[in-house]
Amino acid sequence: MKRLEIKQNQRFGKLTIIKEVEPLYSPQGKTRRIFECKCDCGNIKNIRLSLLTSNQTTSCGCFHKQTISNIFKKHGDSLTPEYICWVDIQKRCNNPKNKYFKDYGGRGIKLHQSFNKWEDFKQYLLDTIGLRPSSLYSLDRINNDKGYEPNNLRWATKSEQNKNKRTNGGITRKKKQTFPRKTIKEVISKD
Ligand SMILES: [Zn+2]
Repeated sequence: MKRLEIKQNQRFGKLTIIKEVEPLYSPQGKTRRIFECKCDCGNIKNIRLSLLTSNQTTSCGCFHKQTISNIFKKHGDSLTPEYICWVDIQKRCNNPKNKYFKDYGGRGIKLHQSFNKWEDFKQYLLDTIGLRPSSLYSLDRINNDKGYEPNNLRWATKSEQNKNKRTNGGITRKKKQTFPRKTIKEVISKD
């Protein structure tokens, strides 16, 4: 196979080639050429040639971080777990096309009108149960047959939620009640 010639100072995105360094060898005996690159931000990083030529790597990683931080600035709360949770509740309760609708909106579970505005929902959380303690928790309705309304919300782990279901008279749901985390792309494209 022809050996691709890479010159010093050749650029791939924000990366400039400094020099080729010791290659890595795959278990199959293939050679993976590695280049020391300098990123426009000043970082120096060793990167596999195939990632450079395929445009999979175009910076030391700072570009990605920068993009995310810009998104945060632009969208404020919109990437917080609480906001994503609030958006998901509305989908499950209001959108018959949502795959969880039958377990929520379809059986009368609603988002209380006082929570129609994100700012109000957020303020309620801050005043009462606080923000999500960790990623192990999701928003739970204390009384399973009531909606997402004041005094019926808490952060609970999965096992706490299961316990809650049993003491509520053995109501079981076929699907696990989870709040799938959305990728950044999905969240952004919504706005
Ligand atoms: Zn960089």
